[in-house]
Order: sequence, then C-alpha cells, then structure tokens
Amino acid sequence: MATKRTTSTKEKKEHRYIFIVGGVMSGVGKGIASSSIALLLQSRGLTVTALKIDPYINVDAGTMNPTEHGEVFVLENGLETDQDMGNYERFLGKNISGINYMTTGSVYQDVIRKERNLEYKGKNVEVVPHIPEEVINRIKKAADVAEADVTITEIGGTVGEYQNVLFLEAVRMMKTEMPGRVLVVMVSYLPVPGSIGEMKTKPTQTAVRSLNSAGVFADFIIARGPVPIDQKRKDKIAQFCNVRADHVISAPDVASVYDVPVNFEKDNLSLRICEILGIKTRGQANLTSWKNFVKRSKNGKDTVKIAVVGKYFNSGDFVLSDVYLSVLEAIKYSSYALNLKPQITYLSSQLFEDKKQLKNLKEYDGVLIPGGFGATGIQGKLNVIEYVRKNSIPYFGICYGMQLAVLEYAQNVLRLKDASTEEINPHASHLVIGVMPDQREKIARGEMGGSMRLGEYTAKLTKRSIAARAYNTQEIKERHRHRYEVNPVYIERLSQKGIVFSGTSPDETLMEIMELPGAIHPFFLGVQFHPEFHARPLTPHPLFTAFVKAAYENKDT
Ligand code: GLN
Repeated sequence: MATKRTTSTKEKKEHRYIFIVGGVMSGVGKGIASSSIALLLQSRGLTVTALKIDPYINVDAGTMNPTEHGEVFVLENGLETDQDMGNYERFLGKNISGINYMTTGSVYQDVIRKERNLEYKGKNVEVVPHIPEEVINRIKKAADVAEADVTITEIGGTVGEYQNVLFLEAVRMMKTEMPGRVLVVMVSYLPVPGSIGEMKTKPTQTAVRSLNSAGVFADFIIARGPVPIDQKRKDKIAQFCNVRADHVISAPDVASVYDVPVNFEKDNLSLRICEILGIKTRGQANLTSWKNFVKRSKNGKDTVKIAVVGKYFNSGDFVLSDVYLSVLEAIKYSSYALNLKPQITYLSSQLFEDKKQLKNLKEYDGVLIPGGFGATGIQGKLNVIEYVRKNSIPYFGICYGMQLAVLEYAQNVLRLKDASTEEINPHASHLVIGVMPDQREKIARGEMGGSMRLGEYTAKLTKRSIAARAYNTQEIKERHRHRYEVNPVYIERLSQKGIVFSGTSPDETLMEIMELPGAIHPFFLGVQFHPEFHARPLTPHPLFTAFVKAAYENKDT
C-alpha cells in the first residue's frame, strides 16, 4: 500500500501549482474552495489534481476518532484519508492517487526512513530544509503521476498555527523556485457580528500579515462570510492586504456546496487564476453538466425520507453529520437522479436501545445503517434492523450495517440467541461475524494503523440478484475498510433460512453482499464494502439509487 517515492525533483511536464491556505478560523470551506477551483479549471479542459496536507502526527486518518476528525475517506489504493479527498474525487469525478494525501506524521516517517537508509549521504538531516523538501517532492510527484497541468494543494489548519509552518515554508520555497507557476489562495472568514451589523475585514488583515511573516503572499482572497462581500470591503482588503480588488472573491454561505463553483465563476475566478499562471484561456469555464446537476438538486418533484442510524452524531451539544459525509452525499446524488428531494434525518442508535422508540421509524421511507466500530449503540442498531425487517421498511446496511443485519438474522430467525460478532463479544458461543484470519495475526501483534482490509477489491455477483440487477453487471470493484467478515461456518445455515449472499470475493471465501429476496422483503440489502466512496454527483451509485427508489416506492404503499 505504501507508495514508492522518488527523491528527484525533476518534472516531466511544466506543472502549475496552486496552494490553498486558511485564515482566521477553520471549518469555513477550504476543502470545498479547493474542490471548486479544481472543477473550474478542469471545466476549462485542463488536467487537474488535488492534494490535501493534514498537520497531524497521525500517519493517516485511520487512527483518528471520527467525532474528532470527521469521515475517514478510503482511496482506491487503501490509504485512509481526510474527507476532503472525497470532495476532490466527487467534484472532479475521478479517482485520486494515494500520493496526494500527506500528514506531518507520514512526512517525518519518510524522512526518517530515508535517513536510516543513508539516502542523505551523511548530511545533517534537519527540520528545515529536509521536511519542506520532502513535502515538495511529494507535491511534484503527485503532479507527475496525474500528468497535471494544475496541481492544487490544500494546507490543513489555519495560518498562524504552529503546526503548518513547515508546509508554508514548502510553499515559499516552491514560489522562489518557480515564481510564475505558483499561486496562493487564502480562504478567510469575514464575520458580521450581530451587535455591529457590519462585515469586518480586520481578522482577515491580521491573517494575511501572519501569512506574510512566513514569506508567503496571497494572490487571491476568498472572502467567506454569512453574506456577499461588497465592493467597499473588497477595496479595503486590496489596500491593506496587497491583493488586487478583483482578486477578492465573494463566497457567502450557500444552501448547497455544489453552488460554490458556480458562484466563484461569477467573479471570474478561474479566468483570473489562469491569467496569473500564464495559461491561455478565455471566457467562462464550461459548467453545463454541473449546472444541470445543481438544477436537478433543487427541483425534486417529491420528497423521500431516509433515516441514517449511527453512533457518531453527537459532539457535546452539537450534531455532527460530517462523520458520514460520503454516505449522505451518495443518498443525495441518487435522489436527485430520481428527481426526488431527500430529507435525511440522523438518528442516534443508542436511542433505540429502548424498543418503545422503534415505532418512530414508521415515519421514514427507508433506513440506512452505515459503517462503524465497537460496542456502543449496537443493541440499538440490532433492534432497528429487526424492526425494519419485520415491517418491510427498505434497509441498506453498509459494512457494520451489513454485519449486524446478518447477526440480527442469526439471532432472531436462526434463533441462535447467543450469537455475536467477535469484535464485541469474542466469547459468545456463535460468532456469526468473525475476525478475518490475517487480521487475527495483525491484532495479536498490535499492528492497528493502516492494517485493515483496505481499498479496492473485486467481487462477483449472482445473476439476477437485486445487486446484479442494480449494478447491471456481474463483476464489481468496491473499496473496503474492515477487520471482520461473515463467519464461513454459518453461511449454509443463513442461506437455508433465506439470506442470499449475492456478492462474494472471486474465490467465494468472503461474503461481500447479502440480500433478502423480493418475495420476503421490498428491499433489504447489506454490503461489506463502502459504495459511498464511489458515488459522484454526475454518476450516482447504483446501489444507493436502488435503495432510494425502493424507499420512495415504500412511501407510496
Ligand atoms: N467494525 C467492522 C469491521 O471492522 C465494520 C467496519 C466498518 O463498518 N467500516 O469489520
């Protein structure tokens, strides 16, 4: 899984580089800004790729708790990354290479590995320049791998933080090396304090100074705020921050992130970027299919109500939906394709430990249980699955959501009362979900980071099954992230009682899809993989579409 890296800094093509940094505060949409700029340049016929730098010591995002960090997005090669990588894939409509994601931890790990291998040939290895040099090598390598005209790199965190200084140093070094081919965009926040009622530019001015003190100067400022920035404040920022007034781009809050590229284009952002980078182009980016998608997303003819039952929603007094971002987006794309407006409700699984709550599920047209780990909220999820199975409510289970569907069936239909998953009760007499053999060894050795069954694997589908009909093919490739599987010992018994394992690994050892036949249930399907990582605005995922369609039909009945 580790990507081989070269130490050479020679480029194959004259690449251009854009860096996106954040000012004032985090969480104002650097990832969406980066994805939108990427989409706009791609829509001008350029080849574009996008990287994310996370300032954590964690080597990848796989060991971070989702409530701290948000969704773990798995790339084709199995690298566990940040949700922004998902935004890049969704906006660009293509897979992104593992070289495009790095953390502080992964950069240091490589520098230390090279030092141990004598690759620095006896030199003093120092934080500066060797860490920024490693960062630069990776960015250039990513540009080469993608044969990109433009490579966009988003630097996590906010300028002024201790943590991303070395990444800003990399930007400074690249700008010095190729001044005409490197451009910096700062995404900043302009608050409108309620007590004043006026948009304030001072925090942005301070953030720009902080960026400048690292030797880096912004070419563009994306002015995030609750409302559009006016000309007066654009001029003020231009005057105090050394950017042209027409390089201050208005980015007010929007109802949907998919409006962002369209809004940027109103300020001619991609044309201005191309001017600075010396790329010959004219007029506007061709956003026809994107705009059609945005239009469809707003014109649904009817609603469909989907409940997502998970355990990672609560953070203090706030509800987090980021943890299941790709799942939520996948539901939306399929709904839009069916001309429906999805109403997605997040329900905490713990709620359903009390069986009296279950009847509230009748309100929803379909129920989805996404991936998860550990024991918290499990009984609630099992209760939900039993309820939707018995009440013919369409069900879609992803990863843990499939394992628990199989477990529920074993407990309540096969009547194996003491059935469990090895993940939470290794001493149960029926381990219907067991650890995969190679995983057992890894767990015993304490090898936990980046060691699950990760990334893309092929599965074959049973002819005429619900899955095969949805995909319209008998061979698929999907991305995985798990340690446990349906225990082969129980497959025959489960099958005799009605479960159809309609997707398996090519050698038939791993159960990748389970479904109940249409005669038993209108739609009850679980997948061991994560189809949400393949769902894209312009190409929704067939299984999500089948689920939403079944949910909508359930509404009518
Ligand atoms: N915890 C389960 C496993 O490791 C499911 C993982 C998931 O849902 N991503 O197999």
